[in-house]
Amino acid sequence: MEASKRRKVIMYPLPFPGHLNPMIQLARIFHHRGFSVTILHTSFNYPDPSHHPLFTFRTVPHNNEGGEDPLTQPEASSMDLVVFIRLLRQTYAETFRQSLAAEVGGGEAVCCLVSDALWARGTEVAAEEVGVRRLVLITSGAASFCAFAAYPLLRDKGYIPIQDSRLDEPVTELSPLKVKDLPVMETNEPEELYRIVKDMVKGAESSLGVIWNTFEDLERLSLMDFSSKFHVPIFPIGPFHKHSYNLQLTTKNTEDHVITDWLDKQDPQSVVYVSFGSLADIEEKEFLEIAWGLRNSERPFLWVVRPGLVRGAEWLEALPSGFVENIGQKGKFVKWVNQLEVLAHSAVGAFWTHCGWNSTLESICEGVPMICTPCFTDQRVNARYIIDVWRIGIELERSKINMREVEKVVVSSVLVEEGDRIREMCLKLKERARVCLDKDGSSSKNLDKLVSHVLSF
Ligand code: UDP
Repeated sequence: MEASKRRKVIMYPLPFPGHLNPMIQLARIFHHRGFSVTILHTSFNYPDPSHHPLFTFRTVPHNNEGGEDPLTQPEASSMDLVVFIRLLRQTYAETFRQSLAAEVGGGEAVCCLVSDALWARGTEVAAEEVGVRRLVLITSGAASFCAFAAYPLLRDKGYIPIQDSRLDEPVTELSPLKVKDLPVMETNEPEELYRIVKDMVKGAESSLGVIWNTFEDLERLSLMDFSSKFHVPIFPIGPFHKHSYNLQLTTKNTEDHVITDWLDKQDPQSVVYVSFGSLADIEEKEFLEIAWGLRNSERPFLWVVRPGLVRGAEWLEALPSGFVENIGQKGKFVKWVNQLEVLAHSAVGAFWTHCGWNSTLESICEGVPMICTPCFTDQRVNARYIIDVWRIGIELERSKINMREVEKVVVSSVLVEEGDRIREMCLKLKERARVCLDKDGSSSKNLDKLVSHVLSF
């Protein structure tokens, strides 16, 4: 059953790549099923609409009318992520209400709002006011969301705040997680973190459906766990980027060609691709240890050093002079890559990752083994599943990063000794990720259910 062209879905992503990318992919899925899509987007980190001609974009302005965006002020750039998310929500709460009301009053019948789970209850109130049904998109995995939902229990039992003396203790209520895997992060305002998480969980619980960028074969138990606790319909329809109409969408720029040319010259499965996503940052000391470790490993590497990755640095200036030149063609530092293309390249043998959920799924879909260095929140949960449940990666704890350890892990574990076993598991999981999108696969069926659900409103 296809939707009539007149039905409109409004989407409200969080303005970070790890949240915006899956929302855009979901928008394409809705569009392919006959819906028109309007994306309400914060004026902060506004995407280029010309890259997404299928959708209508509307700007949600910040609340400082006629003045500077509070999120781009110098004090905002030094905030920790928790405090920044609070500011983000405050900055757009009222203007989102107004933008949604204007959009709903605009003529075309609105079917539903799909908002990022992290916008949480702010969008709930706004949607209720204008009588629009609301679904949420959870851009993290099901296992980590269940761990977030368990915050009250984790606090009651004294697991959080985390004590250093208990890091390796198992959390029996959330097996296979250990205390060090719990999805928390360093912040000056821990109570605010608890509030944000509580709000996110409540916002999902009170929605008319949860859309998930995951698939049943990957996270069956966690999805069942969620459904046993929350009586909300769930739609695990991932991996979004592998739905046929999401393939081949990116246009290549010159830098992409340079990277592909370099990868083309490397041996099969020889390259270590290194990226810590769009938000995590590292100390200069860690940066140098990683750089020396990679160099000493003598493996070819492609490392995304995003401006802002190294605290207090513009880009690579912390490296000793001549370092990059000495490495020559053996290693490549870049500011950003088309990660989907890099992971799909046959030269890539391992992905050293912070284990963000998108990166995790993207790696699974290409059958690439992972070296896991989670930094905060859900990344730690994802890492535990990658290592102990799916067995498609190995651990390199952040606290243990030094050049010798880096060299050892890069040279030996994934690529030689344990490599075959891990690669075999990777290929099996890659196949399962493919099958779920077959006509009778679980994600395809769940998508049909989602379309029927939304059309029943
Ligand atoms: N990404 C990319 N190029 C890069 C680094 C990251 O395209 O150089 C994309 C990556 O493919 C993923 C997203 O940015 O879709 C990062 O999301 P993830 O959940 O992995 O981590 P986050 O950035 O949210 O911590």
